[in-house]
Amino acid sequence: MSEPLYLAPRLESRPAALLDSPAFLHPLVAALGSPLNLLLPDQIADNVRAFREVYARHRLTGRICYAHKANRSSALVRRLAATGPGTGIDVASLGELQHALAGGLTPDRIVATGPKDPDFLWLAARTGVTVAVDSPGELTALAALVERFRLPRVPILPRLSEFASTGTRVLTRRSRFGTPATEADALLDLVEKHRDAVEFTGVSYHLDTMAPTEKAAALDGCLRVLDESRRRGLRPRAVDIGGGFGTDYLADGAQWERYTTELTRALLGRRAPLTWEGHGYGLRGENGTLRGALGVYPGHRPVAGPRYLDELLAQTAPSLGRPLATLLLENLYDLHTEPGRALTDQCGITLARVLEVRVTAAGERLVRLAANARDIGLEDHGLLVDPVLVPAGATAREPGGDSPVGVYLLGNLCLESDLISRRLVFLPREPRAGDLLAFANTAGYFMDFTADHALHQPVARKVAVYRDGDAGPWHWCLDEEYWPHLTAGDDE
Ligand SMILES: *Cc1c(COP(=O)(O)O)cnc(C)c1O
Repeated sequence: MSEPLYLAPRLESRPAALLDSPAFLHPLVAALGSPLNLLLPDQIADNVRAFREVYARHRLTGRICYAHKANRSSALVRRLAATGPGTGIDVASLGELQHALAGGLTPDRIVATGPKDPDFLWLAARTGVTVAVDSPGELTALAALVERFRLPRVPILPRLSEFASTGTRVLTRRSRFGTPATEADALLDLVEKHRDAVEFTGVSYHLDTMAPTEKAAALDGCLRVLDESRRRGLRPRAVDIGGGFGTDYLADGAQWERYTTELTRALLGRRAPLTWEGHGYGLRGENGTLRGALGVYPGHRPVAGPRYLDELLAQTAPSLGRPLATLLLENLYDLHTEPGRALTDQCGITLARVLEVRVTAAGERLVRLAANARDIGLEDHGLLVDPVLVPAGATAREPGGDSPVGVYLLGNLCLESDLISRRLVFLPREPRAGDLLAFANTAGYFMDFTADHALHQPVARKVAVYRDGDAGPWHWCLDEEYWPHLTAGDDE
């Protein structure tokens, strides 16, 4: 076989130590089945701390809100509730709001985002969470609920979108969410009209983009709307800049460079195939030239998470002309953030048991797993990263048998398309039935976002895993049985 092309996952110490504990992991899967999702609730507290350090560096205050939609876990929500008062949660459905309240987050730590149905809006208004009103219509509906049920004023952070700053050519993309910034005046008119029902605390945005210049333009646009609101006598206190700080999934940037180079060579027919049926992730070779664009997540992203926030805050506001952090500080505005993916970084692992290894007539090695592509959503999100082999017990090693192999990972659905990855995945040795493959860093969107009961296959159980200190024995409980008093972790 040619040289293996690894894409090793970035593993911080806690998940690395867990993966290094096969004697703990194998009995868990034996007892609870495959696939199995592991969550490390103490990691989310560490991640909050890393974001808080960036706030401190810029001398900023404000709420760090976990975007709940990244994972349905109760353990993560409850562990988050046990961190300091400066943390909160962003909920985008009635169910998420109920889950956050039940997990111990008080309404002052909850922001309700996205377009809301009447039930969601009522519970949000009744409990007094902050409402990131998504449209003028929603603001009117909220005010009507407050009046009809004689509720206290509800704090609001209207969501804006589609910013176009003067003095710059950066235009943020279209969005189906929020009120276009060009219509902010009409929105503020409505806020003033309903000032007995809603308390205007600031504005928010969330852009589904990685481009920091677009985000800087949006924050700049928000600051200008807040200026205008103060001219009208409103008293805004905060800007909520949403999430989208990203995660660095790969341990080694050189592996990523090499892999993408070799993938293009393979698609041009200049080397052995690296993908199932010549799949190109958006690229294709046509008569010796490459067409299309590689449509995958940039797996190696050193500027992600807290570091992305740090660099964003240091940017110059395109129209206001000064660093964004300085503008926030001078106006004494709180900075609220809503990281989903970045706060779940290193918080979860998905385990899958190897059922069978088979070699086709064409020489492809197929590894069938007790899990499917909906349980492990990496491929669906265009994330190319290797699983970690967790060998079964003390399987006798065959002398000389441990050489790297490239394999295709097949799922457990009777569906041609059910591949965990359409990429030839390189492993340090051929897996055997009973080994586990551990998919690292799945807590953000890859764990339970798409899992379902197709073919009556089981949906993965969720287990919270924790230990005393950095070296104590590992403990586990079902996700819904986890409460923060079980762990020795401290607060933000
Ligand atoms: C999805 C979402 C987030 C989180 O996005 P990430 O990319 O996971 O950080 C935050 N805020 C809102 C309003 C969202 O819809």
